[in-house]
Amino acid sequence: MMQRSAGPAVLLPSENAPLAIRRGALGRCPACGEGRIFGRYLKVRDVCDACGTELHHHRADDFPPYIVIFIVAHVVGYGIYLTETRFAGLPLALQAVLWPVVTVGLSLALLQPVKGAVVALQYALGMHGFGRARAVGAGANRESAG
Ligand SMILES: [Zn+2]
Repeated sequence: MMQRSAGPAVLLPSENAPLAIRRGALGRCPACGEGRIFGRYLKVRDVCDACGTELHHHRADDFPPYIVIFIVAHVVGYGIYLTETRFAGLPLALQAVLWPVVTVGLSLALLQPVKGAVVALQYALGMHGFGRARAVGAGANRESAG
């Protein structure tokens, strides 16, 4: 009867949006927190391998890079400002190597967690196909349980 009881507890989107976003930022399925959201670096899996939640409904598009640019520009910009005001003796050649490396490294490090959080936010808000899939999935769960 209760076929899904052995699997992970699935979080319905409107139940706890901050938890879903935290799970997404950690690269985990926003619904169950156990399955992985990414198959590769930035490729979102079609379906969670732990709970079966459809993840292909996301439309993250360019929003994660916009967020990453916003964060990295502020961090690097402030770093350059601090370097120029407090460590004025730092050689320009060192800065010419340091800041591009910091910029690229920080961008690559932030892209996946930010994209995971954006996908999880869309899940939590029931955006795109997530709301419909959730209603269908909840109905299917009730039918299989009852
Ligand atoms: Zn899952």
